[in-house]
Amino acid sequence: MPIYEYRCNQCHKEFSQLFLKLKELNTIRCKYCHGHNLTKLVSSFSLHQTEESRLSNFDTSKPREDDFYKDSRNIGLWAKKRMRDSGIDLGSKMDEIVERGRTGKILDEYNK
Ligand SMILES: [Zn+2]
Repeated sequence: MPIYEYRCNQCHKEFSQLFLKLKELNTIRCKYCHGHNLTKLVSSFSLHQTEESRLSNFDTSKPREDDFYKDSRNIGLWAKKRMRDSGIDLGSKMDEIVERGRTGKILDEYNK
């Protein structure tokens, strides 16, 4: 099941969409404003910027959708956002922890 990332040209928000059926590709709408005017994002392109925009668009008070953690880039996002909101800056240490969680290395350490 492919996951595609889009940026809405109407409300300028970014979101990822999991496709169960290929025909859904033609019916995709913005999750926020339901607009059709979307730009498909190439995920490896400007990764850091995407991370930044994910953090700033991320609302920790809203419930996460079921497929939220199926996107490995969302792992750790909540914790990072909460710390940033609280004025705690762990800097690269936090990035390291999050990165280990995303790549599955953190599980390897638990299994040792
Ligand atoms: Zn939109």
